Amino acid sequence: MKVMIITGASRGIGAATALAAAREGYSVCVNYRSDKKSAESIVQQIEQLGSQAIAVEADVASESDVVELFSTTVDNLGVPTVLVNNAGILEAGGLEKIDTNRLRRIFETNVYGSFYCAREAVGLMSTRHGGKGGSIVNMSSVAAKLGAPKEYVDYAASKGAIDTMTIGLAKELASDEIRVNAVRPGVIYTDIHASGGEPDRVDRVKSNVPMRRGGVASEVASAVMWLASDQASYCTGTFIDVSGGR
Ligand code: NAP
Repeated sequence: MKVMIITGASRGIGAATALAAAREGYSVCVNYRSDKKSAESIVQQIEQLGSQAIAVEADVASESDVVELFSTTVDNLGVPTVLVNNAGILEAGGLEKIDTNRLRRIFETNVYGSFYCAREAVGLMSTRHGGKGGSIVNMSSVAAKLGAPKEYVDYAASKGAIDTMTIGLAKELASDEIRVNAVRPGVIYTDIHASGGEPDRVDRVKSNVPMRRGGVASEVASAVMWLASDQASYCTGTFIDVSGGR
């Protein structure tokens, strides 16, 4: 039985990953923070593909929400075999716009949330705790390498933390039979740019992308699915950039 928990799966890259997982026979927990309607629509589409799914509201920045997210998944779908730490947010604006509240929002969702979810997943998957092993795929960003100057260095730094977390947990958990890898998307057409204050960002920056176009969510989902799969059985602490060469 293959069970995947995807945080932030109501829209964008998470939703595309949920549908790709369903096509590969996974039962899917579609986590969302507030957009219940979109999450339920993804569940419906998964059911039409012949797989099982549940939509679970949980703010990954809340430790207690995350604990409940995992217990609800176990009760309804079974023990997760894959966690995709995908939920993430950004806010546009350079250093002068960065204050305590913004830093909290960004780091609590992007970094703390990923740690809470990884800890809960490992408690269930680890062979050290009687589990069957598994795989964690973290959603980083090429911003971790580029720094996102004048746009959102705080967001880029949160993704830098995700890269370090990926390397560290890959080594820490290898003997627990848990692989930990990450995908670094470039500019991808999703709602994240509008919610960060610049809906047309992909079209503004795409001329700086060597392939001269933005990516689509399903292109990122393909990399996630490969890293999660047995085809990547000797990969841990590995990164796939899905960025058109950026
Ligand atoms: P998106 O379209 O804005 O979707 C974000 C998803 O995350 C939604 O499902 C949202 O839920 C959920 N979410 C946000 N905060 C949450 C929280 N605190 N708890 C639980 N769920 C939460 O974003 P996206 O572009 O698909 O981004 C997905 C991931 O890819 C992020 O980690 C992002 O940093 C990364 N990424 C994206 C790009 C890009 O160009 N799009 C590039 C590099 C990296 P609701 O629907 O309920 O709000």
